[in-house]
Amino acid sequence: MELELQPLNLPSDNERLTVIAGPCSAESEEQVMSTAMQLASKGCHIFRAGVWKPRTKPGGFEGHGEKALPWLKQVKETTGMLVGTEVATPEHVELALKYGIDVLWIGARTSANPFAVQALADSLKGVDIPVLVKNPVNPDLELWIGAMERINQAGVKRLAAIHRGFSSYDKKIYRNLPMWQIPIELRRRIPSLPIFCDPSHIGGRRELIAPLCQQAMDLGFDGLIIESHCDPDKAWSDAKQQVTPDVLDYILSLLVIRDQTMSTEGIATLRKQIDEIDNQLMEIMAKRMRICREIGQYKKEHNMTVLQTSRYNEILDKRGAQGSLLGMDPTFIKTVFEAVHEESVRQQIEIVNK
Ligand code: PEP
Ligand code: MN
Repeated sequence: MELELQPLNLPSDNERLTVIAGPCSAESEEQVMSTAMQLASKGCHIFRAGVWKPRTKPGGFEGHGEKALPWLKQVKETTGMLVGTEVATPEHVELALKYGIDVLWIGARTSANPFAVQALADSLKGVDIPVLVKNPVNPDLELWIGAMERINQAGVKRLAAIHRGFSSYDKKIYRNLPMWQIPIELRRRIPSLPIFCDPSHIGGRRELIAPLCQQAMDLGFDGLIIESHCDPDKAWSDAKQQVTPDVLDYILSLLVIRDQTMSTEGIATLRKQIDEIDNQLMEIMAKRMRICREIGQYKKEHNMTVLQTSRYNEILDKRGAQGSLLGMDPTFIKTVFEAVHEESVRQQIEIVNK
């Protein structure tokens, strides 16, 4: 299914970047207003704050709910910023619309659940509001696209994706693994869909916000949604990953936004060389596969097994070492040869079973 999209029509910081900033949660009228005033004074156009908070365990602060919505309304009236919040149920949608919320987003836990997304889609029928869909907690691009299709089918055309990383047991560096190949594939599949990056939830630590923002810009993302709090260390949720509006402003000022479409003669010549090499690689690969199939035939005629582990290990080790000598990362070379070998085995099995 093709998405039917319209421009988000949100105010942006420059032609290549829309920034949404604000605290993880709306904690009190004072905290919301103080953060919002500071962000507005730094030139921020869109304010975020969570009103309904999905928490991993019970007993934590789950958001003030409806009580916090007038605070967001006040932000809008006082500062002129647009305001956005997370919705997870049709009741949330109804209340958010009632209080004039301008932007909605669907959280990662919700977008992983097609029943919940469908219920949200039904509640959004006939409503023209930008909806940002976070990736599901698990690295499943189809599920992410499916969630956006459901919302789109309800008639919401101002749609964007938010990349917030993927849950993992390994939390050494990131809170949520970025797995950049997934948003990159999303961009390839639906080029006109704007993609935001949420460096706060990917990193889980404030030190990682700047490098993650830069990476998102270098990959051609269209926006950033960043958690910012007037007093981050005292935040009721996600304290470690929030920054003051001052720090946020500094981080944004350091961002280098490179031109994506620029093409010079120099790069065109280099790209031609790459195309040429890719063609050669492809021909060589096809030749390798032909010989592999011949080997398969030979193995069949001589009653030999397809997979011969010692030969496989020998190839991987040898190629890894050769790669090192040629100035390449041996792990990368092993990954390439593993893929090549997997396909060779698949083809040989086909021949042997014919
Ligand atoms: C949030 O944006 O505060 C949030 C709960 O994020 P996520 O759904 O990405 O965990
Ligand atoms: Mn948060």
